[in-house]
Amino acid sequence: MTRDIHTKPQLPKDFYVNDLKRVLTKLQRLAQDGPERLHCVFDFDHTLTAGKRPGENVGTWDIIDELLPEEGRKRHQEIFQAHRPHELAGKLTVHEAQGWWSETLNVLCSYNFNMRTAENDFLEAVTLRSGVTELFHLCDTAGIPTIVLSAGTKDVIELLLEKYHLKASAILATELEITPEGRVLGWKHDTLIHMLNKHEMGHAKLAGMREQRPNIILLADGLDDVRMVEGVDDVLRIRVVDPRKDESSAIESYLEKSFEAGFDLVIEHDLLPVVRLTEQLLGTHK
Ligand SMILES: [Mg+2]
Repeated sequence: MTRDIHTKPQLPKDFYVNDLKRVLTKLQRLAQDGPERLHCVFDFDHTLTAGKRPGENVGTWDIIDELLPEEGRKRHQEIFQAHRPHELAGKLTVHEAQGWWSETLNVLCSYNFNMRTAENDFLEAVTLRSGVTELFHLCDTAGIPTIVLSAGTKDVIELLLEKYHLKASAILATELEITPEGRVLGWKHDTLIHMLNKHEMGHAKLAGMREQRPNIILLADGLDDVRMVEGVDDVLRIRVVDPRKDESSAIESYLEKSFEAGFDLVIEHDLLPVVRLTEQLLGTHK
C-alpha cells in the first residue's frame, strides 16, 4: 500500500458538507498521519443498520418492544414520552438519561422476554447498511481498529456482525443477563450505555487507544452522538441520515441541525461514500 501524502485529499461525491475548507484540512491531517494513527468509532442502531422494509429502519429496542405484552409496551412508551421531548430539545442531562435508560431496561427485563426470539426478529427486520462490509474489510486490511459504541445490546450487535462475518475490535454496549435458554433475567448495571454516556473516553477498555491513535472517524446517526468522542481537529464526524418517526425528514432542517451540532459531513442511504473517503485517505482509491 502506498500513501502519497503530497496529493491533496478531496471530498468524494455524495457527502453534504457545510465547511469544506475545515473538512479538507481534517482529511489532509488524517491522510498525512496515516492508518497507524487512526481508529474508527461507529454507532450501531440506524447507523450500521438498515431496515429491510423500505423506509423502515427499526432499532434493537423497537424489536424487543414487540415481544412485550400490551401493558409492557404501554409502560415503555410512557417512559419514552416522559424523556424524549427533552432529548429532542437538546436538554437531556446525563442524570436524566441514566434514569431513563435504567427505568427502560428494568421494565423490559421484568417481562423476561426471550433473547433468541428478539435476535431472530432483528435479523428478519434489519440488515447491514450498504458499504458496512467494505468499510470493515478496509479497516481490517489497513490495521485500523473499529469500535462499536452503542446504547443497544451487545448480543444483538455481535449477532448481526457475525452473520456477515465481520469483527469489530471492540463492542461497547449494555449487556443483559440471559439464561442458556435465552430468557432475559436482567441487565448488568456496570455495563450501562445510554445516549449520553456513549462516550469513548469513559470506557476503561479503550484506555490508551486515543493516545496511540489520536485521529478518529466517527460515524453515527443521532444528534447527541456528536459527543461520542472528544476532539475537534482530530475527529471527522459523519452523520448518517435516518430520522426517527418523531423527527422531521426534511433534509434542509436535518443538515442545519447536524452542522450546528458539530458534524462535519452528512450522508444519506448508504456508507459507500465513507468507503471511498477511507480508501482515498489510505491511498488505495481505485
Ligand atoms: Mg443510532
